[in-house]
Amino acid sequence: MPDSFIPPQRTLMGPGPSDVSDRVLAALARPTIGHLDPAFITMMDELKGLLQSAFRTRNALTLPVSAPGSAGMETCFVNLIEPGDTVIIARNGVFGGRMQENADRCGARTITVDDEWGRPVDPDKIEDALRAHPEARILAFVHAETSTGARSDARALCALATQYDCLSIVDAVTSLGGIDVDVDGWGADAVYSGTQKCLSCVPGLSPVTFGDRAVARIHARRRKAQSWFLDLDLVMGYWGGEKRAYHHTAPVNALYALHEALLILHEEGLENAWRRHALHHRALAAGLEALGMTFVVAPEWRLPQLNSVRIPAGLDDAAVRRRLLEEYSLEIGAGLGPFAGQVWRIGLMGHACRRENVRLCLQALGHLIGEADAAIDADAGISAADAAYTAA
Ligand SMILES: *Cc1c(COP(=O)(O)O)cnc(C)c1O
Repeated sequence: MPDSFIPPQRTLMGPGPSDVSDRVLAALARPTIGHLDPAFITMMDELKGLLQSAFRTRNALTLPVSAPGSAGMETCFVNLIEPGDTVIIARNGVFGGRMQENADRCGARTITVDDEWGRPVDPDKIEDALRAHPEARILAFVHAETSTGARSDARALCALATQYDCLSIVDAVTSLGGIDVDVDGWGADAVYSGTQKCLSCVPGLSPVTFGDRAVARIHARRRKAQSWFLDLDLVMGYWGGEKRAYHHTAPVNALYALHEALLILHEEGLENAWRRHALHHRALAAGLEALGMTFVVAPEWRLPQLNSVRIPAGLDDAAVRRRLLEEYSLEIGAGLGPFAGQVWRIGLMGHACRRENVRLCLQALGHLIGEADAAIDADAGISAADAAYTAA
């Protein structure tokens, strides 16, 4: 007989999931009630309001999809694309590539616009593609590319979509709660996020929001979305209808947790949360650079919540990450695709974005790097971070 599973206590500073606070874990452990119970419906209505404030939108169609961020992505694509539609996808990392996969599988004519990994999406190239393809119906891009740590100019890209009569699909999985996501201000049409990054909730839910133009496109579909589970016409009957109709059983306890995580964000205030991410990022960056590491992304496009740095020469990527986990119970992220073995991705997401974590990470990396290279002072990282906090 196996015993009950007791996970080790970790500090999660990778690309997600991030540390979940005791408050959110406690919410998760409350008694399960029926998903059509009036008390639950009241909680759902509050949850929707909290999500609207986090997304900075008045969109009525704002809800958490009952599955992880990838399902939010798929919800946008399967509901907004019909076979034969031309879709322009910006690709500057892993997640843009996944958008392309989604569009292809929906039967779209996909036009991919590539930018180098670590660079933001180039609005000029996107405008060229929009001009060259006046038949395009959708422009999709990733706001915060977690595979590289680069932010793109969502406001400019959404404005281009509108100007060329396309709907925008925006991936805000890593951005929501860490940097500004201004759905109504940008005029974004369909935006999806995730719970396990800067919202610091458990993995497995995907907040989405759709504006009026996107809803009109869904109503005008000639044929049903190919996914029954993600079909918003059906999901809306449960989340939005006058009389809540059963579609699937909502993940009741996970939704308590999301309600609590959004409440925490609301109590802190969005701007304060962004400022906190920026502050700890500056301290971490100063420390990493003092330990001899260099950033992949130029300063103006860096995500505070996802720090991609080149692995110092002579260090074994996997061995260092294993020792961080074994000796410090600290998780950082490996590089993906062309960055595998080249780059570490150090997350400062949500609840994990704290001074003690910045210091733990710099202490641990300082120890391991100093051991491998006598020219590096093991304490240089922590000292530089502390100096950055003092200067702030
Ligand atoms: C994590 C992530 C996803 C996928 O979210 P899952 O919860 O892992 O399905 C999508 N896009 C970006 C930018 C992400 O960082």
